[in-house]
Amino acid sequence: MRASQLFIPTLREVPAEAEVISHKLLLRAGFIRKAAAGVYTLLPLAWRVIKKIEQIVREEMDREGGQEIMMPVIQPAELWQESGRWDVYGPELFRLKDRHGRDFCLGPTHEEIITDLVRHEISSYRQLPRLLYQIQNKYRDERRPRFGLMRGREFIMKDLYSFDRDTAGLDESYKKMYGAYTRIFQRCGLRFRPVEADSGAIGGKDTHEFMVLAESGEATVLFCPQESCGYAANDERAETPPDLWTAGGEPAPLQEASTPGSHTVAQVTAALGVDPRQIIKTMLYRTEQGVVAALVRGDREVNEIKLQKAANVLRLELADASTVRQITGARVGFAGPVGLPGVKIIADREVMALVNAVAGANRDETHLINVNPGRDFTPHLVTDLCLARAGDPCPHCGAPLEAARGIEVGQVFKLGEKYSRALNATYVDENGQTRYMVMGCYGIGVTRTMAAAIEQNHDQNGIIWPVSIAPYQAVVVPVSNKEPAHMALAEKVYRDLAAAGMEVVLDDRDERPGVKFKDADLIGYPLRLTIGNRTVESGQVEVRRRGGGETVPVPVDDVVETVR
Ligand code: ATP
Ligand code: MG
Ligand code: MG
Ligand code: MG
Repeated sequence: MRASQLFIPTLREVPAEAEVISHKLLLRAGFIRKAAAGVYTLLPLAWRVIKKIEQIVREEMDREGGQEIMMPVIQPAELWQESGRWDVYGPELFRLKDRHGRDFCLGPTHEEIITDLVRHEISSYRQLPRLLYQIQNKYRDERRPRFGLMRGREFIMKDLYSFDRDTAGLDESYKKMYGAYTRIFQRCGLRFRPVEADSGAIGGKDTHEFMVLAESGEATVLFCPQESCGYAANDERAETPPDLWTAGGEPAPLQEASTPGSHTVAQVTAALGVDPRQIIKTMLYRTEQGVVAALVRGDREVNEIKLQKAANVLRLELADASTVRQITGARVGFAGPVGLPGVKIIADREVMALVNAVAGANRDETHLINVNPGRDFTPHLVTDLCLARAGDPCPHCGAPLEAARGIEVGQVFKLGEKYSRALNATYVDENGQTRYMVMGCYGIGVTRTMAAAIEQNHDQNGIIWPVSIAPYQAVVVPVSNKEPAHMALAEKVYRDLAAAGMEVVLDDRDERPGVKFKDADLIGYPLRLTIGNRTVESGQVEVRRRGGGETVPVPVDDVVETVR
């Protein structure tokens, strides 16, 4: 390809909104342009990279028996109502109506569509397992679309769904995908780490995220530095053992105390004669992420911090404390919504370490005293600020955990029977018994992987593409277009490389060499071959590896052999 003909609109100035380096470089080097917040056009260079990543993904999916399909982007509301997600998915779901007023959404993920397909087409154990996938645009109306391709509202995802006869089959499929993901990110030339993750809104049990390690990552990964241990988890998942939160002091038995006329913190502390800092309040919210309870301390400052954290409140419903106790197993009941299997408590360690604190008893003018959060709330209910931090002991081997930032480029999930039950996807087993299919789902953010590759591979001059996903493998730069000798040799080298199967650009633009070199670095071609006076005189091409720095002279006739 000739640079004079390529559509690579490079920029000198980067728009101020570009915060992270991948966003800046993708704009500057002419890979993407914004159409709307979180919505981008992928220009020729970006599209080449995307196609390479997709090809690696395809090969590894196919190798594990995946079969590629293409499902619709537009999905009927009925299926989402059947799964129960129409009401719970929240504002991230792009909803639309057709001319008849029927509800649809733009697919943020495809469990509903694929389960509907499979329930109609598969009925016997002989047809299982099945691994079906697609590579397609996904739509999520993210609250904060940002960082360019890292968090878009339209983005490309590979999503595979596995259907098995039983959990042993699912374990097998999960293992296959875990292996495939490992190979995919290795082949993309990325430094990454699979980590245990929290199953969140999608539901299900085992799940791992694949994290590309980079400072700009939005996620925090906690990992055990002990090679032989290998424990690693997202900090939304890694839990601390409760004995880390229960401070010293004498825990007393939980009791109800009457606090007539007390509604404010000051009144309660006066009625009970306690330090206001001993007051903890429990509040439950239903949020986009599910149900959370903020467990906050009685001093206002702490209250405000926690309330801000729970700012995306959709609805607050009250339930009776004994129901909550029954469902959660916690010894302290709290105001909250009915039917709340997803309940989680947000609290910090200071709160959890309180001894003999005071909590609302869910009845007017009554409080609980001697509340010991670490004792009276079940550990798995407590999340967020009580999660593990760097320095906490590894749950497997006890070594102090270390922390790193990560970009989630992929996730594998054991869904179990969640969707097959909701949508009644069954098969008949070898004994004539009707059973639910056992499912898994496995996503890779293709556009995010491209951005993550840049976050991890760049310098002050531009992108340093891993060869396997580079838009082109090499650029041939004649120092001067006005010198027929330069151009003739450059043409020869360019043709030889292309004939050898390399993807190569000839920078035939009428620009100063400095401009060409700058652009070559910015765009990030893994190899730059410079042809100038020295080449004409000595027959040697200057070969420079992007990121390596050194320039190596190579005889014109050996170029193909050397760089291939
Ligand atoms: P995140 O935690 O970053 O919001 P997610 O957990 O919601 O991502 P999944 O539902 O697991 O995302 O989707 C599978 C993959 O799709 C993710 O691992 C990620 O690589 C990619 N992805 C998700 N949301 C976006 C987005 N808004 N922009 C680009 N890629 C995304
Ligand atoms: Mg998300
Ligand atoms: Mg996530
Ligand atoms: Mg995820």
